Amino acid sequence: MTDTMNAVVYTALNTFEVTRVPIPTPGPGEFLVRVEAAGLCHTDLDILAGAYAADFPRIPGHEFAGTIVDADHDYRGHIGARVAIDPLIACHHCRNCTRGYPNLCTRGEAYGAERDGGFSEYAVVNAQNAHRIGSLCMPVAALAEPFACAVNALERARLAPGLRAAIIGAGPMGMILSIALRGWDVHDVTFADRIPERLERARTFGATATAVVEGSVTEVLPAREFDLVIDATGRPAVVQDAVSLLADGGTLIPFGVCPPGSQLTLDPFEIYRRQLRIIGSFSLSRGIPEAVRILQRSGFPLAELITTRFALTDGAAALAAIGGADTVKIQFDPTIDSAPQ
Ligand SMILES: [Zn+2]
Ligand SMILES: [Zn+2]
Repeated sequence: MTDTMNAVVYTALNTFEVTRVPIPTPGPGEFLVRVEAAGLCHTDLDILAGAYAADFPRIPGHEFAGTIVDADHDYRGHIGARVAIDPLIACHHCRNCTRGYPNLCTRGEAYGAERDGGFSEYAVVNAQNAHRIGSLCMPVAALAEPFACAVNALERARLAPGLRAAIIGAGPMGMILSIALRGWDVHDVTFADRIPERLERARTFGATATAVVEGSVTEVLPAREFDLVIDATGRPAVVQDAVSLLADGGTLIPFGVCPPGSQLTLDPFEIYRRQLRIIGSFSLSRGIPEAVRILQRSGFPLAELITTRFALTDGAAALAAIGGADTVKIQFDPTIDSAPQ
């Protein structure tokens, strides 16, 4: 092993480079992981743009999986283990942590934000942040983090089996939520999106009905018919319209990230009279092992969710590809050093 590695480094706000940096050394209770797949998402762009507090320089990447190649001597028995990483580091002492919300830790940090993450050939992580993945392939294992975000949302919603669900937004998180819903015995999933090709793909990942949206989602989906409505667009106007889709007793999860400060108009009488629930879900909450179980059991062609894999040296192209209409999940494969595969 040489002592330097390729990495994507955010050097300042809106500035990054692909460069060689020293391979980090694991300290007490830490592993050195050879990163074999690392997913990109909008959060990586938000961190670069300063929407999340992060110190620069920083190696981003919070959705990654790989093999443990070095460890502090108490942990050397784990060398060779294949793992997916939980990026959140909670303090375990603040009020939110002690009430069971480590994802809301007031002193929390995350790999890829406050600490260096996985857009590099190697990454150091706490031993308790590494979770074994069995025989999952690395690209699918790197989906465990976004799947764990879906797990947090669905656990918090306390869903009854057999309900009727609608997901608005057929991007990567829409697909992941649809697949995860099978873990809750939800098999009736209607998708709505503006882009027909995305809806076509949604059928591969569990959509039982689809609707192309041109104006409002209320024009194409029936009112008061869905026990669960998940917004995966992050558009406040869509969340607003989603309320009217809820059946009596229904649950709305505004899962997509709306702009801070945006507003909804809600009729509190309707929430009262129809027993509606609106469930918030932020990030993941110790859900990586459950996400790995869902991925292991899933009959869906999960590898098809990863539409493009880039070498770290193609970091600029990879970041530019986030959110493209023809992509689902984009990943780095830090083990290659050529053009997109
Ligand atoms: Zn992400
Ligand atoms: Zn805490």
